[in-house]
Amino acid sequence: RQAAYAALRDVHPTTRDGTRVQVMINAGLRDDLANLTMTGADGIGLFRTEFQFLVSATLPSRERQTRLYRDVMDAAGDRPVKFRTVDIGGDKTLPYLRHDDGEGEENPAMGWRALRVALEREGLLKVQARALLEAAAGRVLHVMFPLVAEPWEFDAAKAVFEGQLAYLRKQKKVLPEAIHYGVMLEVPALAEQLDVLAPKISFLSIGTNDLTQFLFAADRSNPKLAERYDWMSPAILRFLRRVVKSCEGHAVDIAVCGEMGGRRLEALALLGIGIHRLSITPASVGPIKDLIGKVDIAEIEAAMAQWLAQPPVDLRAELTAWAAARDI
Ligand code: PEP
Ligand code: MG
Repeated sequence: RQAAYAALRDVHPTTRDGTRVQVMINAGLRDDLANLTMTGADGIGLFRTEFQFLVSATLPSRERQTRLYRDVMDAAGDRPVKFRTVDIGGDKTLPYLRHDDGEGEENPAMGWRALRVALEREGLLKVQARALLEAAAGRVLHVMFPLVAEPWEFDAAKAVFEGQLAYLRKQKKVLPEAIHYGVMLEVPALAEQLDVLAPKISFLSIGTNDLTQFLFAADRSNPKLAERYDWMSPAILRFLRRVVKSCEGHAVDIAVCGEMGGRRLEALALLGIGIHRLSITPASVGPIKDLIGKVDIAEIEAAMAQWLAQPPVDLRAELTAWAAARDI
C-alpha cells in the first residue's frame, strides 16, 4: 500500500466524475517542507506560525520570522501557503508572553489565545505582519486569522496588515503581488455571520479540531471525552454543509484543515457536502488521493443529501458499507 501511495505523488487528485480536489498539507516548521515534495501536495493549507515561537526561548525577532516565511514560500514555489497568524496563549503558553494578571486560566482552550492575544498585544501582530509582507515581496501572500468569533475581529486584524503595508509602500519597498485574507472557522458563532464576513474574505479554512470541541462542548485534549463525539455525526456534517451553503455566491474558497479531513471516511463525507479542498497531515496525502480517485462526487453528494435529511442511527456504519460496496 505504501508503494501504491508513493506512486500517487505526481497525481493531481481528481474524482471519477472529473472534479479536481485540492489536497494540501499542514506544516509548521522548516523540517516539514520536505513533505511538500514527498507528497506532491497542492500547497500548504495551514502553516502554524506559532511553532517557531513554541520552540524558541525568546520571542523570535522580525528578521527570524521573515527568514522562515521566505524559506517556506521558496520551498512551495508556485503552490500557495496559507500562513496562520500565531495561535498561542491558552494551553500553549510562552514564558515570554503572559497574561498581565499572571494567573492560569480555567478554560484555556476558550480563553486568552490566538487572535485574542494578537489583537491585544498589537505589537506582536504588527511584527508578524511586517515579516509576512516582507517575505512575500513580489509574490502572493495568503494569511489567515485563527479563532475568529465575530467579523470585527477580522477587520481589526486585517487593518494591522494594511497599516504595515502602507508603511512598506511609503518606504518604497517591494510589496506582495497580491494579498489574500482568510479566516479560520473554529468558533461556531462565526458561522451565524458568514453572510457578513464572506464578502470581505477570499478563503475560509475550517479548523475541525477546535470547531468540533466547541460544537460538542467536549475538550479535544481530554482522552476521557474521545468517544463523546464522532466526526461522522449528522450534527457536524449538517453544520459544515450549512457553512458551505452560506458561502455560495461569494468568491470564498472553503477548505477543511483539521484532522478530520485526513481520514478516509470523513474525507468522503466532506466531498459529499461540497468540500473540495483539504489540508491534512502529510502521512494522509497518499490515502486521501487514493480515495479521491475512486469517488464519484455526484453519487456521494446524493447519498449524503439523503442521510443528512433523515439521519440513520449510525451514519458511520452506513457510509462504511456504502464505500465497501463500491470498493472505495
Ligand atoms: C483546528 O483547530 O482544527 C486547527 C487546524 O488548528 P489547531 O489544530 O492548530 O488548533
Ligand atoms: Mg485550532
